[in-house]
Amino acid sequence: MKLLEGKVALVTGASKGIGRAIAEGFAKQGAAVAFTYLSSVEKGEALEKELAQYGTKIKGFRSDASDFKSAEDLATAVNAEFGKLDIVVNNAGITRDGLLMRMTEEQWDEVLRINLKSVFNLTKAATKIMMKQRFGSVINITSIVGIKGNAGQANYAASKAGIIGFTKSVALELGSRNIRCNAIAPGFIETEMTAVLDQKVVDEWRNGIPLKRGGQPNEVADACVFLASDMSTYITGQVLQVDGGILT
Ligand code: NAP
Repeated sequence: MKLLEGKVALVTGASKGIGRAIAEGFAKQGAAVAFTYLSSVEKGEALEKELAQYGTKIKGFRSDASDFKSAEDLATAVNAEFGKLDIVVNNAGITRDGLLMRMTEEQWDEVLRINLKSVFNLTKAATKIMMKQRFGSVINITSIVGIKGNAGQANYAASKAGIIGFTKSVALELGSRNIRCNAIAPGFIETEMTAVLDQKVVDEWRNGIPLKRGGQPNEVADACVFLASDMSTYITGQVLQVDGGILT
């Protein structure tokens, strides 16, 4: 028996990187998967075809996670199309790095809107459906930077720390409805987001990681499968670090 058989999952920002790996990991474990993308339209459409090989229902939606109304429409459309909504992964995110002295108001607002408001948008819309079902697992992708802070990422760190406070609050509010809400804090994961980093910075990071390597998107996806599945039915309000031990 696969770990997510019979479950319906929605993953935001799945056109590449970690979100893509999560959508694939869920489909491999038997879940029906809805996912979103925004600017990478070709990649999103290709993923829908690729995931069909796992034999479950798959559908991609072009949807802006930072827009409140779009998130509501998305949750309604997924519920109508798939008949229910068991698992939501709020993964969509961006970076607009810079030291505070040089950070513009636009860089601050954009990161907070896309990384944090998006989590509010979809969690609110999805948990309305989950409350009626009396079942649900919400997984929010934060970052170790949200726990530790990072010079040059004040906007990103604030958005990711905000996700942790939000996650714990939702877990407290909705536990009585059998809705769990957890966060995953990846460390340095090798994706397009981290490919833009200076090689020297990356080498320094690698050195500081007890496992002596960057993580792969599928290693974050495996943690998501666990928190989405009935293997974690007594776990809520937690932040699971998937970081090779770097914050130890
Ligand atoms: P990535 O490769 O840059 O992928 C980001 C994804 O988010 C893309 O699929 C992108 O879709 C989507 N996205 C961005 N803005 C969106 C919006 N407004 N609406 C819908 N989708 C949107 O990044 P990643 O490394 O996989 O990161 C995924 C998540 O993990 C992020 O929340 C990130 O902060 C977090 N994280 C990453 C690392 C790491 O080391 N990589 C570490 C800690 C946490 P389109 O391209 O289609 O727009």
